[in-house]
Amino acid sequence: MFKTILFPTDFSDVSKTALKYIKQLKEGGAETVILLHVIDQRSLYALDQTTGMNSLELERGIMAGADEEMKEIEKDLKEGGFKVKTLLQTGFPLREILKVEKEEDVSIIVIGSHGKSNLEEMFLGSVSEKVARKCKKPVLIVKR
Ligand code: ATP
Ligand code: MN
Repeated sequence: MFKTILFPTDFSDVSKTALKYIKQLKEGGAETVILLHVIDQRSLYALDQTTGMNSLELERGIMAGADEEMKEIEKDLKEGGFKVKTLLQTGFPLREILKVEKEEDVSIIVIGSHGKSNLEEMFLGSVSEKVARKCKKPVLIVKR
């Protein structure tokens, strides 16, 4: 039923909790996980402005860090018996998530209710809210 899982991650604690649930979906017939991280273009721009660092260099550094994080999750999932497709993009998180949903044969999207900001008073983060609103496929929102 949930053969291909799209897992957009920001490497936050909540999205690590989401990973636990993904592993449990294996018993329900899940085979492939599409692991997606989007380097947010807006935060790149903001960093660029505040640190005065060269934006290309900045992006390269962030990419290298994200690559490491992705490799770790990929390894973890492979050990759990999943096939893994890893995608690292720069852009707007929602837009990239929608694009992958459209292009790949996704059965379910698993996402954290919150991410790196994890504000106490927010019911959902902005990415998870928009994913729940805009994505066509079933969405599993894992709570913090
Ligand atoms: P906000 O970003 O609105 O201040 P937040 O960081 O607490 O709030 P979201 O960003 O909505 O919450 O994160 C919710 C979930 O969305 C995360 O657990 C993760 O699964 C996914 N997500 C968030 N940002 C990204 C990203 N840049 N790339 C991939 N997935 C993301
Ligand atoms: Mn966020």
